[in-house]
Amino acid sequence: MGKIAMTTPIVEMDGDEMTRVLWRWVKDILITPYVDLKTEYYDLGLKERDKTCDEVTVKSAEATKRLGVAVKCATITPNAQRVEEYNLKEMWKSPNGTIRRILDGTVFRAPIPVKGISPLVSGWKKPIVIARHAYGDIYNAVEDRAGAGESAYLVIEDERGKEVRRKLIHAFKGDGIVQGVHNLDGSVSSFARSCFTYALSEKLPVWFGAKDTISKIYDHRFKDIFAEIYEREFKERFEEAGIYYMYTLIDDAVARIVKSEGGVLWVCKNYDGDVMSDMVASAYGSLGLMSSVLVSPDGNFEYEAAHGTVTRHYMRHLKGEKTSTNPIATIWAWTGALRKRGEKDNNSALCELADRLERACIDTIESGFMTGDLLPLFHRDGVEPVVLGSEEFLQKIATLLP
Ligand code: NAP
Ligand code: MG
Repeated sequence: MGKIAMTTPIVEMDGDEMTRVLWRWVKDILITPYVDLKTEYYDLGLKERDKTCDEVTVKSAEATKRLGVAVKCATITPNAQRVEEYNLKEMWKSPNGTIRRILDGTVFRAPIPVKGISPLVSGWKKPIVIARHAYGDIYNAVEDRAGAGESAYLVIEDERGKEVRRKLIHAFKGDGIVQGVHNLDGSVSSFARSCFTYALSEKLPVWFGAKDTISKIYDHRFKDIFAEIYEREFKERFEEAGIYYMYTLIDDAVARIVKSEGGVLWVCKNYDGDVMSDMVASAYGSLGLMSSVLVSPDGNFEYEAAHGTVTRHYMRHLKGEKTSTNPIATIWAWTGALRKRGEKDNNSALCELADRLERACIDTIESGFMTGDLLPLFHRDGVEPVVLGSEEFLQKIATLLP
């Protein structure tokens, strides 16, 4: 059988440490034997980011805007220890943050369902995908302590600094604290468009929870913007796709999620998403089975694994030890990108290959062959689990592909 041809390239963003090692293996064993792979390659490994003063990250994000689909390997976000380890010119910013800013996108995290690895919430049969707004609220807050006898006000000035409105927050009789938060209509609108675009792409209903009954201006603005954009730009397409949009109070959303069978996109404000994404991820089990995609409001997609570069395994790999690092989320980044490329280019062979590859991965694990992280989570009657090294595991998956 000939290899599948591609018309438009995918933006390929290489990364660091153990995931950089997995990247090669995944490509060599599962992708390039089947696809005449066309990518525009950017090396986001820390050495290259340092060499180019992080220009390479910016270029890769701009390429994603141009080509519409990217696949990204996990990358190191440098801290003081990494600056020393790699002798960096600067403590470069998180590449994910830079790419997200340039694409103005939202990150969606979805667990990869496998029979034998059950979520801790027994009713969850389908994945729950979380969308977290990544701007504003307490993450860009201004706060201070106030002393007894002091008063705090919310003051709005016009562009010349003339006071327009003033509201008393509190006249402190004893010592206390005060916080000012903000958000932007533009950011909330982009967030809404990214969420609705992703939901259409994945055919998932959308649930958005906030607290508009208490926060009658701030949270209510989120609710209104979502409602307006849904009505104006997405309602018809949602109805055609057989999905819906629902707004409810955040506490009601939490209760509904726990009682649901999954299969929804749960849209969260920044803080709710921070907390709830960790809760949902841990209930599903392993970081190695969590996929992630950044979606821009104008429909560009960047796929990656939710986990990092798995440094501890890389240290063992460097010593020549065989590691059993889970490549599934990295494979899902590739299949996500190939499928999306196929959809955008009307290349059904590419979409089918992505489906077959995912099926082969799931069948391999369900028949008992897996990486070490999954062993304590796997329980299936009549199946004795076998732990394989990463490369052997990939070879095992390949035996299920024609
Ligand atoms: P991590 O790479 O996700 O790994 C944390 C631990 O989780 C690992 O030590 C391993 O546990 C387990 N784990 C994660 N992925 C696994 C996989 N695929 N297979 C098996 N086990 C897996 O997080 P980290 O150690 O906090 O961060 C390492 C580096 O990654 C940092 O430099 C950070 O900046 C970067 N990072 C990048 C991204 C990204 O690019 N999106 C995201 C997060 C972190 P055991 O060691 O117990 O086996
Ligand atoms: Mg968190």
